[in-house]
Amino acid sequence: MLRQSLVEYGKPLEATEAPTPTVSGSEVLLRVSHCGVCHSDLHLQDGYFDLGGGQKLDVRGNRPMPFTLGHEIAGVVEAVGPAAEGIGMGERYAAYPWIGCGKCGLCARGDEHMCNAPRALGITVDGGYATHVIVPHPRYLLKVAGIAPEIAGALMCSGLTGYGAIKKAINYLRAGPLLIVGLGGVGMMGLQFARALTKTPIFAADIDANKRAAALELGAAEAFDPADAGARKAIFKASGGGVGAAIDFAGSDKSLAFAQAAVAKGGAVVIVGLIGGSFSMPVPMFPLRALSIMGSYVGSLAEAREMIDLVQAGKVAPIPVELRPLAQTSRSLADLREGKIVGRVVITP
Ligand SMILES: [Zn+2]
Ligand SMILES: [Zn+2]
Repeated sequence: MLRQSLVEYGKPLEATEAPTPTVSGSEVLLRVSHCGVCHSDLHLQDGYFDLGGGQKLDVRGNRPMPFTLGHEIAGVVEAVGPAAEGIGMGERYAAYPWIGCGKCGLCARGDEHMCNAPRALGITVDGGYATHVIVPHPRYLLKVAGIAPEIAGALMCSGLTGYGAIKKAINYLRAGPLLIVGLGGVGMMGLQFARALTKTPIFAADIDANKRAAALELGAAEAFDPADAGARKAIFKASGGGVGAAIDFAGSDKSLAFAQAAVAKGGAVVIVGLIGGSFSMPVPMFPLRALSIMGSYVGSLAEAREMIDLVQAGKVAPIPVELRPLAQTSRSLADLREGKIVGRVVITP
């Protein structure tokens, strides 16, 4: 098999070759048809995550080198282990990459994406910037009939991240509308899932006027500019006293300050974005405002299945995608780092 592999942290990926894996037990071998290029690949390539304020989170772990990144995987079944039931050769699937140890309490309750000993594809075990990838069990393969294969993999990352956050936020909408802060790819997906899951009006906020216009086109009831000093007042007026939940898809100190200030009593802030920064608030404000602040990280396998159903029902607008060959993986990561990519790049090994 051919791969584009990380051979050293902080360095470009390199073409490597390895024997095509053989399957055993419940394993399924996918021939990768598409693998989306993602911002989190950049942190893995660096080996650290910038927390803001000069702090770094080491994410090198114990990855064996060469290591193959790529977690937004769609492909075709090429081999099936003797214990892998219900999977046919030649069938097309998206792979749920957030795989856990399968033994701990988190995994037992279906939260494999939060497992502390993960086997996540392209994160802790070899992923999809390759001609082939091993998926450990058929349950991680999702049927994606009717969904364009070039977006099927990306749905397992940006789509699921948006969906998981909306699922948390919709529990708080008795207190008022939903506010989506940060209208990048994940925020826009979140907005569309929210439209499908709730009749509550959805407000959107972004400093970019074009993104605000796009959000209104996708069904946001109102759009606000966080840089506008009157934005908080305008949100309180439009919502009749604050929003029920705000989702911070940016995740900076500024965006979180804006999001929490827009929330009504009894409401919640869900933090998704990872830009970095710090947050402080007088402790009594939590009880006095009956305020909840929580984080959301991708989504569970069950949520992935629910999300795929919504996408198959036509609830999500197609994402513009640029296809590139495997040999351009490293170049694509560099382009993403330099902000040269509009929409999404998907590798076609
Ligand atoms: Zn991703
Ligand atoms: Zn586990």
